[in-house]
Amino acid sequence: MPTKTNILNEGKSKIVYETDDPDLLIIHYKDDATAFNGEKKGTIVDKGVFNCRISSALFDMLKKAGVPNHVVQNLNEREQLVRRLQIVPIEYVVRNRIAGSLARRYGLEDGPDLARPMLEFFVKDDDLGDPLIGREAILILGMATAEALDEGGAYSLKVNDLLKSFFAELGISLVDFKLEFGYTADGDLVLADEITPDGCRLWDAKTGEKMDKDRFRKDLGKVEETYARVADMVGSALGA
Ligand code: ADP
Ligand code: MG
Repeated sequence: MPTKTNILNEGKSKIVYETDDPDLLIIHYKDDATAFNGEKKGTIVDKGVFNCRISSALFDMLKKAGVPNHVVQNLNEREQLVRRLQIVPIEYVVRNRIAGSLARRYGLEDGPDLARPMLEFFVKDDDLGDPLIGREAILILGMATAEALDEGGAYSLKVNDLLKSFFAELGISLVDFKLEFGYTADGDLVLADEITPDGCRLWDAKTGEKMDKDRFRKDLGKVEETYARVADMVGSALGA
């Protein structure tokens, strides 16, 4: 079993370790929570455990449905062994309803369904505040290839179809979410990073109650309880 050697990078919510195998990394999920590009910082007790469980279960389900990902195996309740990827420095965001930065950007009310799923690209760069970027700009500036955008975009929409119906069965509306992709040493594009309530908007389908990081961002209370509940719902639905 590969063992940790040194820290490759410590991000806002995870620590990524190199291992004695150059192709494998260990991802450790922390309890740290940040919002507004790091302006607001806090701790959500056991978020790391809940997110590790949620992401593992969802990635597993997506893999069975034909979306490959970086996870090799889970090591413990906070850590996964993953394939080392060349991360595409673009965040792929899929939206089903108006919320968040889409609402702010165009002065719209939160809530309405979009006519169809909307894929947006953002530059993965905290110093720049992860700005929205168009396909042409990405290509002209050489930030990613057309293949990475097309293949990652197609995977993103497939993930949306699968997750939207999965969460609908749990009585949860999948409003929007962010994905990252990366290339394996063999040149295959696979899903990377995580899918958790940190990077998704999940609203109770009946009451509209927020079941994601917006509870932390907006000080809505019951933050820990909500992560625990999502982890329980996802875990029991997927037998994880
Ligand atoms: P951030 O503050 O950028 O959100 P995180 O705390 O989420 O960072 O830490 C995860 C970091 O590890 C991110 O930069 C992410 O792109 C990167 N990462 C995720 N999966 C992999 C992988 N399989 N190989 C290399 N880097 C990865
Ligand atoms: Mg992150």
